[in-house]
Parts: sequence; structure tokens; C-alpha cells
Amino acid sequence: MRFLKPFFGGNWKMHYGPTDTRRFVEAFLDLYPPRTDRTVVFFPPAISLAAFKQAAAARQDIRLGVQDVHWEPSGAFTGSISAGLAKDAGAGFALAGHSERRHIFGDSDEEVAQKVAAITAVGLTPVLCVGELLEERDHGLVEPVVTRQLEVGLSRLESAEIERVVIAYEPVWAIGTGRTASPEDANEVHVLIRAVLAQMIGETGARVLPVIYGGSVKTGNIQELLAAPEIDGALVGGASLKPGDFSQVCSAD
Ligand code: PEP
Repeated sequence: MRFLKPFFGGNWKMHYGPTDTRRFVEAFLDLYPPRTDRTVVFFPPAISLAAFKQAAAARQDIRLGVQDVHWEPSGAFTGSISAGLAKDAGAGFALAGHSERRHIFGDSDEEVAQKVAAITAVGLTPVLCVGELLEERDHGLVEPVVTRQLEVGLSRLESAEIERVVIAYEPVWAIGTGRTASPEDANEVHVLIRAVLAQMIGETGARVLPVIYGGSVKTGNIQELLAAPEIDGALVGGASLKPGDFSQVCSAD
């Protein structure tokens, strides 16, 4: 039986400026009534945070996050935002180590660790994304890759801080490809993730953080994924851009 509240994240990537954001929020809020038995967080482009916050002002249940931060609090880093700036703009969460950041922008495990620490330091909740490439899976490397990403990614946090992280298992081959990991395959990696966390912070601590799945989650597969015992929710890309689809995903039990 699941004892953590399901956690649903909508990662909009580089979609929806302020105008489309307002349109989306209006449609989504009509379809998705407030619920206290789950956490729903949107990760719009940072430039749309203010529009989202304003459009959803009446809905305290809908939370906001940013897709990436720089690890420094401020400085000459043209184009970047810091965790503190994100917090000031209304974010409560921040992704770190999304596979597009790792594989398109070259974020290293150590940089991801610095980002996780910077996010934590200002009191935001980091959502640490981990996951293997297809060739790593094909070579039987899921365990070492995911273990390394977790151990390094969390290495700058104290145990009590690790308990406040959300882990997203996102096999890279399943992101935006229409290929979803089977609930059994995903669950197996979630079991591994909990074991690594238990090594780091003990069994009890490892039970309090949500471990969510991401990779082509949609209305047709969310139910079976959530039915897997170790899957505590979903990080959703494509389907989070459609108010009807995402409200259904967020309503799944
Ligand atoms: C993601 O961006 O984190 C993601 C899982 O994307 P998609 O749902 O489109 O595969």
C-alpha cells in the first residue's frame, strides 16, 4: 500500500510563454478541482512563472518550480537563474539533473550535486532526476549509473536534507519517445533507488522521499505505473502540455 502522497510534476520544457501559460492555467483549473491527497507541481519556463502564479493565485494546491538553476547564488552568469531568484519569483521546487540538461547541456554529476545543494540551501525542494541511456541499459549498467547519479547528486546534503528531496527516475530512452518503461522495469529501478537511499540515510529516512517515474507518462499508462508499489508519482513532459490529459494524469490513484 502506498503511504506517500502521489506527486505529479508537469515539466513544460521550452514551451508556453506567458500568454499560452494563462490560457493553459484557466483550462486546467476548470478541469482539476483542488485535492489535498496529492501534490501537483508545474515546471513552466522561468519566464512564465509570474504569469502562472498570477493565473493560479486562487489555488494554493497548485505548486510551482523551475526546470534548472545555476549553483551560484548570483553573479556574472548570463542567461542563468539562481535558486534564490527562483524562490523570489514564486518557485517552491527545482529540477536538477534532468536528462536534457545532462545530455544536451553537459551537466556533470558534480554540477548536479552543486545545484541540488544550492536549491536546498534556499529552502526549495530539489527534484533530482536520474536515469540511464539506452546503451547503458543494453550493457547491463542501470545499477551503476543510477547509483552513481544518486550518490554524487546527493553528496553535498546532510541526511535530514536528503529526506526532503524528490527523486525522479527517468530512463533517457523513455523521455519524449513514446516508449514507457514497463511498470515492472520501472519498479525494479525504484527498488534499487530506495536501497541506495537506505545505504545513505537509513531505511526509515529512505521511505519518506517520493520516488517518481518519468518517461512518456500519459493518460493510458499512469494507472498501471501508479499501481506499482514503489512508484510514488510521475514527472510528465509532453502530456503535461494538454490541460485535459494532465488533469487526468493528476487525478489517477
Ligand atoms: C520529462 O521531460 O521529464 C519527461 C518525462 O518527458 P515525456 O513525458 O515527454 O517523456
